Parts: sequence; structure tokens; C-alpha cells
Amino acid sequence: MPPAAPRDRLGRALHDLRISITDRCNFRCPYCMPSEVFGRDYEFLPHDQILRYEEIARLASVFVGLGVRKLRITGGEPTVRRGLPELVAMLAALRAPDGEPLDLAMTTNGSALRHLSRPLADAGLRRVTVSLDSLDDATFRRMNGIDFPVAKVLDGIDAAVEAGLGPVKVNVVLKRGENDGGILDLARWARDAGHVLRFIEYMDVGTTNGWRLDEVVAAMEVIETIGREWPLEAASPQYTGEVAERWRYADGRGEIGVIASVTRPFCGDCTRARISAEGKLYTCLFSAIGHDLRGPMRAGESDDGLADLVAGLWGARDDRYSERRAAATERPLPKIEMFALGG
Ligand code: SAM
Ligand code: SF4
Ligand code: SF4
Repeated sequence: MPPAAPRDRLGRALHDLRISITDRCNFRCPYCMPSEVFGRDYEFLPHDQILRYEEIARLASVFVGLGVRKLRITGGEPTVRRGLPELVAMLAALRAPDGEPLDLAMTTNGSALRHLSRPLADAGLRRVTVSLDSLDDATFRRMNGIDFPVAKVLDGIDAAVEAGLGPVKVNVVLKRGENDGGILDLARWARDAGHVLRFIEYMDVGTTNGWRLDEVVAAMEVIETIGREWPLEAASPQYTGEVAERWRYADGRGEIGVIASVTRPFCGDCTRARISAEGKLYTCLFSAIGHDLRGPMRAGESDDGLADLVAGLWGARDDRYSERRAAATERPLPKIEMFALGG
């Protein structure tokens, strides 16, 4: 029997699983899938190399047996994959060993939420996180790389709330000189609408986005900028392994979060595993190497065998890339692209 709750070499449990269900996306955000690299000729994974929905659900249930209680569907852009509500229904049917349902969420660029929110909610999705880097239409069109209007994403967010998928978390990646002038507008909008805003520091994921440290807007700067307008107080984490630092508005009107992966890394609490669309397990967002789970699964491995495999890989884990980057003692290793892992 595989261990019920494996710990890695730094004592970290396995609680969260992010599942990338496609490497494709309809956007070309320059910090993630720059269009110069991901053009017409770019070869995405062929269909037979992508995990089928049944395979995703089977792997998810193996991870739940090992302690996972939070599942997040991501991509690429998850909503570009056909029949998404079917997958949601399969994942929503999973239960923890104590019979409790799992925390099932999805991260999306919001472009398809107007027509998908209701079917997804009906299938059992609980929450969505929408990535939205600016409320300014020109800035947003530039930052999604395909001239997509911000109004459509805002309408998609409304649709998600109407379908009961709120409160919606809104992820903002800040890039110096690009959208950092819009911090207060976003904060005002989210406070008024009851959305939870989360600012993510621009990260050196992958190798194609030309990341530079001077383009990172530090989380503390965001807190200070917003706090000058509407005073903020630090809130305690809701659970171990929560990556966002939470700050509450002193006037009681909601909260914001900052994900300071560059300036304040949190590897010590990282309880997160990731599966890529082709079924590789990554034990860190910055891993160069994924461990193939699809091959053994398609070769007929049993659930217990898969659980043993995953428990062994988790037990060997000693990743702490962001802490090492902060220490700046070594050159970064080659790593996987963000669109392939889903953040
Ligand atoms: N397409 C979906 C979306 O955009 O929400 C899901 C996948 S996307 C890779 C997941 C998250 O990663 C998004 O919130 C996106 O903004 C974030 N992201 C992508 N590249 C990033 C980078 N270089 N640094 C920080 N966050 C990044
Ligand atoms: Fe697509 Fe999301 Fe990457 Fe933007 S961040 S290119 S929406 S996968
Ligand atoms: Fe987790 Fe790797 Fe990010 Fe550290 S760098 S928090 S180990 S994913």
C-alpha cells in the first residue's frame, strides 16, 4: 500500500494539484506565450499525447488518495478544450477518504465565461480565478497579445458571479511600465464589485518571455500604493501552503492578496504538485524535468502502482527554486514554460 500522506525531503505534504488540460491558448500574453515564439507554425501537442478526461480523473483520484484536497484546472487556456463540463463533472464526483468533496477551481483568461459559467457551475465547479491584467482597454488588448477587448472578460466575470462561481478571484500580473499605473483602478473596481484581487509578481518562468528583474513590481510596493488610498491590515493565512499573503481593507470592504514569489519566496510551505497536459508530474513550477505518468498509466499500471510512483517522486522532492533564486547563488536551470504548466 502506498503511504496515505507522503512527505517530501523538506517535510512538506501533498495538498494541492494543478492540472493543465491543454497546452493551447487563444491569447498570446507576452509574459507567457509571446506571439513571436508561439506563432502559426508552433507545434502544440498532438491530440493523442494529451491526457483524456478519464485519464485526468483517474490520476486526480490517485492524488486524492495521497492527501490532495484542492484541485485546480488550468492550461494553456482550459476553456479552449472541448467538453470541459464533462471533466468538471468527473472531478466533482471525487471525494476525500472522509467523504468530503474537494475544493475544485479553475484558472482562466475569462474569454469564454459568458457561455461556459453556467454549464461549469452545473457540472460542479465551485470557483473560478480570472486573469485580468488591466481595466484599461488599450493596455489589456496589448497584454493579451490578440487585441481581445477587456469588456468581454468583464462580462465573463459577471456571468461567473451570476452562475454562483463567486466570489471571483482576479489575478493580475504586474509588469513595470506596462500596467503598474492601473493598480488603484483595479483595486477600486474589485472593492466595489466584491471580487478578490491578487497581484502576482512577474516571474522568470520558462525561457521565452525575456524576464528582467527590473520589470518586477514588488508586492510590498503594491500594498503601499493601495494602502495609501485605502488603509490595509495584514490578515493571517487561511491554511498552510497558502501562496497569497492576504491583506484586509481596514474599512471592512474586502481583501486583496499578493503573491510575492520573487521578493518573498514561500517554498517552505509549498504543498503543490502540477500535471502537464501530456501527463507529466512536476514537483516545482520551475522544474526542468517532468516525470511521465501517462506512459505507466497507458501501459496498464494499477491505481496502487501509480500511487506508489507518485509517492516515491514526492518523497524525493527537494525543490525550492524561488528561495534559491532569492539567494542568487547559482545560475538558473533550464525550465518548463508557464503555458505548459498552468501557473
Ligand atoms: N490561461 C489561463 C489564465 O491565463 O488564467 C490559465 C493558465 S495561465 C499560465 C495561469 C496564470 O499564470 C495566469 O494568471 C497568468 O497571468 C500567470 N502567468 C503566466 N505567466 C506568468 C509569469 N511570467 N509570471 C507570473 N505569472 C504568470
Ligand atoms: Fe494564455 Fe493564460 Fe498564458 Fe495568457 S497567461 S497566454 S491567457 S495561458
Ligand atoms: Fe513551490 Fe517551486 Fe514555487 Fe518554491 S519555487 S514555491 S518549490 S513551485
